[in-house]
Amino acid sequence: MDVFIEPIGRLINEFSKLPGVGKKTAQRYAYRIINMTDAEAKEFAEAVISCKRKVRYCGVCGNFTEEEVCGICKQRQATAICVVKEPKDVIAMEKLHEFKGVYHVLHGVISPMDGVGPNDIRIKELLARINPDVKEVIMATNPDVEGEATAMYIARLLKPLGVNVTRLAHGIPVGGELEYTDEVTLSRAFSERKSI
Ligand SMILES: [Zn+2]
Repeated sequence: MDVFIEPIGRLINEFSKLPGVGKKTAQRYAYRIINMTDAEAKEFAEAVISCKRKVRYCGVCGNFTEEEVCGICKQRQATAICVVKEPKDVIAMEKLHEFKGVYHVLHGVISPMDGVGPNDIRIKELLARINPDVKEVIMATNPDVEGEATAMYIARLLKPLGVNVTRLAHGIPVGGELEYTDEVTLSRAFSERKSI
C-alpha cells in the first residue's frame, strides 16, 4: 500500500474493509472521493457518521430503527410474526407487500461450527413476545443447514405454546439467501408456506 501517499492509502484501506470490496475496487472508490467537490465529500462522510449515530435496534423486533420502537412494530398488529436472520431480510420480505404482520430479527442463526448457540441469538426475546393474540409464527430463516436447524429448534420451543409455526415453502434455492431470492420466488415461498 506504500505506493500511495498516506491519505489515499488510508482511504483505500478503509474501503477494503467493506464486504465484497477488493483492493482494485477500493482504489476506484478512493479516486472517486478525491474527484468529489468538498461539499460532496462532506455529504458522504456525514452520511457514514449519521448512520452510526442514529441507527439502533428496535427494542421489540430487533430491526433497524431511529427510535425506541420501529415503525412496523408501532403500526401493525402482532397476530403473525415473521422470524428472520438479519435486518436485510426484513427488507426482502417488505418488498413483496404481502406480509402484514410484524417481524422478529434473530441477529444470527444457531451454528455450532461457529460457536453460535441458542442463547447467542434473540430466541428468548421471541418467546417473550408470544401471547394469545399471536396466531402464526413464520420461520423465514435462509434454507441452508443453519437456517433449517434454527427454524426447527425454534418450532420445537413454540409448539407447546399453542402457536401455529410455519416455514417458507421451498423454491428458494437450497443454500440460498432471502436477500438474493427474486421476488416472484420469495412471494411463492411465502404464500405456499407450510406448518412445521
Ligand atoms: Zn420493531
